[in-house]
Amino acid sequence: MSRSTRRPILALVGFGILVCLTAVGLWKTSGELPDYSAVSIQPEGIMGTECQLTAIVPRGREASAAPALATAEAELRRIEALMSSWLADSEISRLNRAGTAVATPLSAESLALLREARRLSDASLGAFDVTCRPLIELWRRAGASGVLPSEAALEHARTLTGWRQMRLRESDVLKGDGEARVDLGGIAKGYGIDRAAETLLAAGVRGGVVDVGGDLRIIGHGLDEGPVRVQIRSPFEASTWGEIALYGGAVCTSAHYARHFEIEGKTYSHIIDPRSGRPADAALSVTVVAPTALLADAWATALSVLGPEGLSILPRNEGVEALVFHGTAASWKTVTSPGFPVLIRSSSAGSTDGR
Ligand code: AMP
Ligand code: MG
Repeated sequence: MSRSTRRPILALVGFGILVCLTAVGLWKTSGELPDYSAVSIQPEGIMGTECQLTAIVPRGREASAAPALATAEAELRRIEALMSSWLADSEISRLNRAGTAVATPLSAESLALLREARRLSDASLGAFDVTCRPLIELWRRAGASGVLPSEAALEHARTLTGWRQMRLRESDVLKGDGEARVDLGGIAKGYGIDRAAETLLAAGVRGGVVDVGGDLRIIGHGLDEGPVRVQIRSPFEASTWGEIALYGGAVCTSAHYARHFEIEGKTYSHIIDPRSGRPADAALSVTVVAPTALLADAWATALSVLGPEGLSILPRNEGVEALVFHGTAASWKTVTSPGFPVLIRSSSAGSTDGR
């Protein structure tokens, strides 16, 4: 699970989704009394990043939000405890420690997520691959030491990567090599966000947002029952590239500028291209909108590997749309999937693209 610091890429704007104060502002400026209030909590220490859970409830029923938000927070913590490879006691850490030819029993939930990860690996032509943790660790060590990995070390990590090393069976996973490991950092956060949103829905909340480190799932409507608006950051400035409007669904971003490391003066992405074994460099930042945060999370990582060409393999009819920033600091461009432009409310496309 990722240990990113909060990425100020996405911000909810508009109808006071984040804090009630904004709602008061809206009421004053619009002259209308909103029928709903937004109640938020910001639990700490979840998935190594900042987190904000918001429930929109009818005015006067604000107290009903607290228990719903508490169950959503507990659900996020439960998923992290189950699937984080940063926690030694998690099921995934247990699988990673297992030796050669050892079968590790896993919960049905972890197995289902691993199956979904394998499906997404096929769908993304190998760009998204949770079995590439040996490569992730190799490059993390290289980043920490400031020395590029040797070809031999790279080759060894590549042989440990791939689903042939992780046989998913009915109730366990049989590892090939004991050194093979998985990393759910590109999918478990999205899955956790979805589960937290589902607990809010199950508790009767009809509008709200689950935001973990800038990746988010929107439930229902904004405070004025209109769409929820989400700002997308430019890759090289602390400024907004544009704003999209959504009724429900999820938005996740993978960004080179948010998390990278440096070796010999060159920056490298925290995302690995499992095909070459080297850090991905085909995109500067990718924002994906999808019905679920799981899909948005995984496809943002996959498209960071594939770059603009990856847009052609996005699943059709699954509601997955993407915005890819690519190029260089001096000259960057955006390209989108066909359905993305209808979501855009405003953007600086044209004025900043391809400077
Ligand atoms: P994100 O920032 O959401 O794109 O997630 C990136 C995280 O996913 C990394 O920090 C790794 O833990 C993991 N990861 C890196 N490369 C890949 C890849 N090609 N496929 C799946 N997971 C990856
Ligand atoms: Mg992600």
